[in-house]
Amino acid sequence: MEGRCKVCSSVHRAEYEQMRVEKKSYSQISLRAKLNGEDISMMALSRHFRFHWTPLLEALEKSDEVLEETVQKRIQEKLNTLDEIEKIITICKSKVQGLLDEELSVDNIKGLNLLLTQIRKNLEFLHKIAKEIRIEPVRSREDVLNDVIYICQDLPMEYLEKIEKRMEELNKNV
Ligand SMILES: [Zn+2]
Repeated sequence: MEGRCKVCSSVHRAEYEQMRVEKKSYSQISLRAKLNGEDISMMALSRHFRFHWTPLLEALEKSDEVLEETVQKRIQEKLNTLDEIEKIITICKSKVQGLLDEELSVDNIKGLNLLLTQIRKNLEFLHKIAKEIRIEPVRSREDVLNDVIYICQDLPMEYLEKIEKRMEELNKNV
């Protein structure tokens, strides 16, 4: 597809992509290319796997969609609960008003106490839920690593190798 990409135009493309599926590092793939008689730098590999490798792109897109859907669904659930709480509180308030309009009696005061307890509990619940609704920006690990590769692409090879080694360490620690 991409005319100038050494990986795309290689007859060994499938082999390199399979290695990537097996989580082999770019330096390992680059070495394999050398054994195949090809000179493919780690940068060329990173470009290929970022921009031309459909399985990865599709998987990333899909995971973003799923994540987004899950977040939306959970927010909607919380909002529904908030609506319910609001309804309960409104009903309690009108009952309180009704009791206040009547003459004070023991039963009346008991009723008021119960209603106020119910309102307080619902307000506490409301507060708890409001705190839970927080939307954090989501960036996948792959996004971050790709950014690092992009930012570092003009550095000398020895640095790139060190950076890649560190990245592998990070991946192992996940
Ligand atoms: Zn390519």
